[in-house]
This record gives sequence, structure tokens and C-alpha cells, in this order.
Amino acid sequence: MTYREEDYLLLSGIQHYAFCPRQWALIHVEEQWSENYLTAGGRIMHTKAHGGNDVEKRGGLIIFRALKVRSAELGVSGECDVVEFRKSKNGISLRGYPGLWLPYPVEYKRGKTKLDDCDRLQLCAQAVCLEEMLCTKIEEGALFYGEPRKREIVSFTPVLRGELDKTVQAMHELFSRKHTPEAVKKKHCQSCSIKDICLPGLSQKSGNSAKKYMEAHIE
Ligand code: SF4
Repeated sequence: MTYREEDYLLLSGIQHYAFCPRQWALIHVEEQWSENYLTAGGRIMHTKAHGGNDVEKRGGLIIFRALKVRSAELGVSGECDVVEFRKSKNGISLRGYPGLWLPYPVEYKRGKTKLDDCDRLQLCAQAVCLEEMLCTKIEEGALFYGEPRKREIVSFTPVLRGELDKTVQAMHELFSRKHTPEAVKKKHCQSCSIKDICLPGLSQKSGNSAKKYMEAHIE
């Protein structure tokens, strides 16, 4: 199955959905947003990653910044912070650059590596977009975390790809129904960028959307 362009969702929403489906729905379905120090730090890191030239060549490496990507199979579109093209006999040809080049997506993140797969899923989605656009296969990419200033290598295994498919399907299903799931208060609510909109403790008692909560509260 492929999605129509008008039904594409934002690729960056995958990490929101994997973190908490309600957070994703509040941001992407209800279009509510709030920036905290975590998201502000992340935004600054992305701006740095996107700064300077959009394309740079360093020896056996071509670096593309802020590369627009999309996938009809996933029904998502977005931007890669950085895609490195490494010289490889298994690569693809790039106009203006002799030889063959293998794409390698790199996503910049604030903080440390996480136990959950939020960031890995987002990176994997970028790889699937690049595979579809460039007719190639990408085995791995990297997440660059700001606190240790280190790269974490991510393998795009069948398990991770399967998890990505399920996540994106669930996002499309919720988006088509314009549905916001109920709050499930967990430890991660502490670092949630929209906890003041979600009000997890209260909204559990007042239906499944912040709007409904506000209406109930006003009544
Ligand atoms: S506060 Fe908790 S339940 Fe509400 S959106 Fe954030 S993570 Fe989800």
C-alpha cells in the first residue's frame, strides 16, 4: 500500500508517537505545542547541524545537510539533519560526483542515548525514505547525542523496520479518525514538553482530549 501525498504525516512526529501517542496527537492532530528547555536545546542542536553549506565534500565523504525526504510507502515526509554519502562499491551514483556512494543518515539529538526506540525509529524512517528515493538499501546510520557528544550506531534490523511499520500505521489510523488517546501517567510525563497542556493526572478523569478537559473544567 502507498499513501497519497496529501495524507503524508510529519516524519519528526514518529519520535513523538513512540514517546507517547497522546503527545503526538496533541501536537499533530490537535496542533497544540509547548516548548520546554529540552525541546529548545534540541532545536538549537538541529539548527547547528543544518548550519553552513548544504553540501560539503571531504575526501571519501559527501555531506548533505537538511535533506528533504519522503516515503509513499510509509506516508511520511520530513528532513534529515545530515546524510553522509560514503564511497562504496555497493553505493549509488550521484550526479556531479564520480564513483559510487552509500547513504548514511545521521540525526542530532540533545541529551543521552535512550532505552526506548523513539530516536532509532525516527532514524530508521529517514533510512526507509532514502531507500525509496534512491533505490538502494541502507543497513545502518547514527544518532549523535549532545551530552556525551558521541555517535550511537543504529542497525536497521527487520525488527526495527517492523516496529516502524506498526508505529506509522497506528499514526495514520489515529490521524484519519482525528483521535487523541487518553493520558496514561508515567515517569516520562516529567520530561514531556506538553505536560501543562496534557495535564495527565486530571485529563485521565475528563475524557481523551485536552479540549474536552478544558470544556469540562470550564463547565
Ligand atoms: S504528559 Fe504524559 S500522558 Fe501527557 S502527553 Fe506527555 S507523556 Fe503523554
